[in-house]
Amino acid sequence: MLTRTLRTMTLAVALAFGAAVPAFAAGPVASPVVAPYVAPTAEEAADMAYMREEEKFSRDLYLRFAEAWDRAPFAAVANAEQNHMDAMLRLLRKYRVADPAAGGLVGEFSDAELQALYTTLLQRGLGGELEALKVGGLVEEADITDLAISMAHTMKADLRAVYGNLACGSRNHLRAFAREIRALTGQSYVAQSMSQAAVDAILAQPWERCGRGW
Ligand code: ZN
Ligand code: ZN
Repeated sequence: MLTRTLRTMTLAVALAFGAAVPAFAAGPVASPVVAPYVAPTAEEAADMAYMREEEKFSRDLYLRFAEAWDRAPFAAVANAEQNHMDAMLRLLRKYRVADPAAGGLVGEFSDAELQALYTTLLQRGLGGELEALKVGGLVEEADITDLAISMAHTMKADLRAVYGNLACGSRNHLRAFAREIRALTGQSYVAQSMSQAAVDAILAQPWERCGRGW
């Protein structure tokens, strides 16, 4: 977590001073880093499949919340999650990993734990607008952590580029939900799965450009 926090801050500082940033930070999700095909390890393949479903998990929740609550972030963030899903699908295809989300309707998951968690979080978020925003924050925190774990498991440039872009998007999503929670309650955002210090470090930084901005 400390490494993750430091990385975020280093990138933000680099951007503030107009320094050259790594290609993975600047490149849009739609233009992946070109990397030769090297067969993925079992761990890399498992991470790719899991992150594909995790992106679907956030997209599906936000689609449902966008229907229930008229708050601006849900529809826009769901759109961004679709882009994240697409980026993961491109990696799955390149590395010939089966797509766990193939044919899955909104709210359907291959992973049993994700399926159970979806039901729980959906119910929480449909219970109230503030709860939905908090669920959004929780999902983004978990996403940031899982992307960092997946990043640590691979040296492949294209995987690292996509994970980096998705994490950048997740930080922006967390900022968006935290801002809405503050607007609704007047309270600052309370961390739910990351440490408060790590969350505060993200929220203290301005919006980041992640390829297309999300
Ligand atoms: Zn995402
Ligand atoms: Zn997100």
